Amino acid sequence: MSQQADCLFCKIVRGEVPAEIVREGERTVAFRDINPQAPTHVLVIPRDHHENVAEAAAQDSGLVDAVVRDAHEVAVQEGIADSGYRLVFNTGSGAGQTVFHLHGHVLGGRGLEWPPG
Ligand code: C5P
Repeated sequence: MSQQADCLFCKIVRGEVPAEIVREGERTVAFRDINPQAPTHVLVIPRDHHENVAEAAAQDSGLVDAVVRDAHEVAVQEGIADSGYRLVFNTGSGAGQTVFHLHGHVLGGRGLEWPPG
């Protein structure tokens, strides 16, 4: 497993920083966002460290599949799969990425507008 000592989300994977974990997959961990933007707002992260989804796709495309599959499992578990949910990968600081460990935002439980801000 490839991890980084000082990465916040690697620390959540290792249990060194607390998080409200809702699902543990073989390759992913899902936990509630501390600053939720919708009634359901869960982050799905790989156990391995990758800076963003593009880097992970280039290095381990099966891992991106696992993140997307497990994000859907979270949506089912949270009861938002049928009404619809959004899966967002902010990629780069210009797009609002603030934590540089790949994470998919699973958002739902209310109507979501388009385009996003
Ligand atoms: O896509 P972006 O990098 O901006 O998302 C990072 C997310 O991580 C934010 O939504 C923030 O609220 C969340 N976060 C968290 N727990 C932390 C630190 C950040 O859920 N300890």
